[in-house]
Parts: sequence; structure tokens; C-alpha cells
Amino acid sequence: MSVNIPRGTQDILPGTVEKWQHIEKIATDICRNYQYKEIRTPIFEHTELFQRNVGDTTDIVQKEMYTFTDRGDRSLTLRPEGTAAVVRSFVENKMFGDPNQPVKLYYNGPMFRYERPQSGRYRQFVQFGVEAIGSEDPAIDAEVLALVMDIYQTAGLQKIELVINSLGDTDSRTAHREALVNHFQPRIGEFCTDCQSRLEKNPLRILDCKKDRDHELMKSAPSILDFLNDYSRTYFEKVQSYLTALEIEFTVDPTLVRGLDYYNHTAFEIMSNAEGFGAITTLCGGGRYNGLVSQMGGPDVPGIGFAFSMERFLAAIEAEGIEWQEENRLDCFVASLGEEAKDYTVKLVHDLRKAGIKAERDYQNRKMKAQFKAADRLKARFVAILGEDELKENKINVKDMETGEQQEVALAELTETLLKKVEAK
Ligand code: ATP
Ligand code: MG
Repeated sequence: MSVNIPRGTQDILPGTVEKWQHIEKIATDICRNYQYKEIRTPIFEHTELFQRNVGDTTDIVQKEMYTFTDRGDRSLTLRPEGTAAVVRSFVENKMFGDPNQPVKLYYNGPMFRYERPQSGRYRQFVQFGVEAIGSEDPAIDAEVLALVMDIYQTAGLQKIELVINSLGDTDSRTAHREALVNHFQPRIGEFCTDCQSRLEKNPLRILDCKKDRDHELMKSAPSILDFLNDYSRTYFEKVQSYLTALEIEFTVDPTLVRGLDYYNHTAFEIMSNAEGFGAITTLCGGGRYNGLVSQMGGPDVPGIGFAFSMERFLAAIEAEGIEWQEENRLDCFVASLGEEAKDYTVKLVHDLRKAGIKAERDYQNRKMKAQFKAADRLKARFVAILGEDELKENKINVKDMETGEQQEVALAELTETLLKKVEAK
């Protein structure tokens, strides 16, 4: 009996993998320019890490985690997001003691959420994210935003929109929270059961509810921006003025709240408004999390970060119809005729590859014509033809597949000749 791929997951096949590699390269190159270094954390963590730090009123913790008990009776969870683990590692490895602060990190890897699969929503998806931990300078908020916009723009995306908000500091949030409770309490019975439990635990998250988003009390809900104290307001204004200086367009949306519990001050999302992108328009989400490091047992240092999924990034690229040149073109296909010549090409192709030439040969015992067809399919720039006669004379024919020109070269000089020809292309 055959076994199929699990729901909400996908195989990324050759042909598509190159697209992934392309955007991964853009993202990692840009991170390097901005001086972010890669961190790799385990795929699974203690369940507690997410329960306590992502927050037990969040969708992720309440409904979406892949949690299992291992043979040693420990509760482990496949990571649903990256920040909690990066901050855990920051604390555990005492990165706060590094003289280079803030610590600027990026990650790229699979995350797991038990979601209802649909376009743009998978159970295993790949998140690329950055975290800058150790600075509470609005300039670092602007830098993180500039970085992600740079990645998207370098990939060619134009129809994207940056939306920001401030969630304020603890004082501002406490005041806002009270106003929210007063606002929703009298009619909370009209909201979903999730919102009813959010009212006590985290009323801010009611604003993020997908079921009740059209309720009239949503639109009239008190805005966090009216509750920002001086520090929070000045901070937010500074972030905005830096963004303006960097010529990064943005809009402020006071109803933007992020799904995770740990955010304060700057919160943001980037949307795609490309036609045909689909119902889910959020490409990227992130924000500042000043209490998270100390909550995990580290010193009281602030942080900010974002994460986006590669799947939605690629979907946006597709929706905008962006194409790019495939780089991994075959330089030379070595065609051969006769048993002896065939044997000889085993080492010949190996030598070409060792010299940095992208080379291929026939493994299907094809006739010469079929070997040329194969070379065509592989878009080979050159075909080197070795027959019994050429082999006897220690020669080989090199055909330029674009111009049709043929040149006979000494076998010993093939590598050098090809290197020059490929270079000249
Ligand atoms: P959504 O509102 O779409 O559920 P979220 O608030 O759960 O998003 P975050 O936890 O902020 O998303 O994750 C950051 C980014 O990761 C999202 O903006 C999106 O690009 C991506 N993402 C989240 N969940 C999925 C998923 N199930 N499949 C693919 N990408 C996802
Ligand atoms: Mg979600």
C-alpha cells in the first residue's frame, strides 16, 4: 500500500528548489550586509518554552502545537516559531556578555503548526527571521524594518505595504487594557468563546480575532495610541522619523496587534497587495519584545525581530510575475561513442568538475543523437564529443551549442579550453 505526504506539508522538487535557494541567498546576503549572523537551534524544544513564552492564550499554544512525549517521558514540541528558541539560546549561552551589543542574529528553518491547511498556510513551513537583542534604540527598530524591506525589494517585490503600530510599554498597556475590558465586558457574550477567555487573560488579543473582526465594538475599541505615555509616544515617533529618513513608506494602523504575547512598543506587518495573491495577505510579522529575555531568566535586555515564511514570500513573487535567470546552467555535456571512449569519459568528466566546470555525461547508454538531445534538454553550452578515432589521436571535438562552431582540441587541453570558453560566455 502506498503512503502519501502528510496534510499541510509539501515536497519541494527540483525546479522549485532553485527558487528557494534564490530567495535564501538574497535574504542571507542582505543579513550579512547588515551584520546579522546565523543561529541554528533545535527543531524541538521543551513544551514549556513555548507555553510560557509565546503565551498560553495564543492560537499557537492553544491549538497549533505538535506536542509529543518522548521515551523518557518528557513533553517536547516541534517549534512553532523561532523567537522563543533564539532568546532561550541567547540566555543559555550568555550572549548578553558579548561585548558586541546588540546581538544580531538570523535563522532560517522549518516551523510546525497544526493549522487548517490552505493556500499560504501549511503545517510545516519555513520561516526566515532575525532578532536584534540588547538595544532599545529606535534606530535598531528602523534597521530591522529596513532589512526586511530590503530583502523583499531586492527580490523584486513592489506591491508590498508596511504597517506599523506601537503597543507601548507596560504602563501604557495596563491603561489600555483597562479601557479594553471596560469596552468589551458589557457585550462580551456576543463574542466567540476564545474572546471571552481573552477578556481576562489578554484583552488586546480580542482585536486580533479572526471570527469577530466585523463586530461593531471592534471598530470603536479604544486605540492603544491614545494610551501611550510620553516615553512610548516619543519612541514610536522616533521610529517613524527614522523610517522616513530611510525613505521607507509605511502606514500606522492602531488596530494592529500581533498574535504572540511577548510584544511591546513597535509591532509591524508587511502585506502583499498583489492581485491574485490570495486571501491571506500577511507576508511578515514582527515587533519588539522587551520583557522576554528576563522572563527566560536572563538580564533585563530588550529585543526586536521579525519572521516571514518562505512559502508566502515565493507566492508573492509569483503573484507579481517576477522572473529571474536560472544560474546553474550546464557548461559541458560530454558525449561519447564506443566502449573505450565511454570508459574514458568517466575520468574526463570528473576532471572537468574538479576544475569548476559544470559537466555531465550519459549514463543511459544512449546513441549519439540521443546524447545530443539530452545535452539540449540540460541547456548545455558546449558538447564535447569523444569517438574511438578521436580517442586514438588524443583529441576531442568541442561544439558551441549556441553558434554551432566546432573546434578540435587536444584531450589534455580540454579543461583549459573549456574554462576559457565558459568564461567568455
Ligand atoms: P497568520 O495571521 O497568517 O496566522 P501569524 O500571526 O500566525 O500569521 P506569525 O506567527 O507572526 O504569523 O508568523 C510570521 C509569519 O510566518 C507570517 O507572517 C507568515 O508569513 C508566516 N506563517 C505563519 N504561519 C504560517 C503557516 N501556517 N504557513 C505558512 N506561513 C506561515
Ligand atoms: Mg497563525
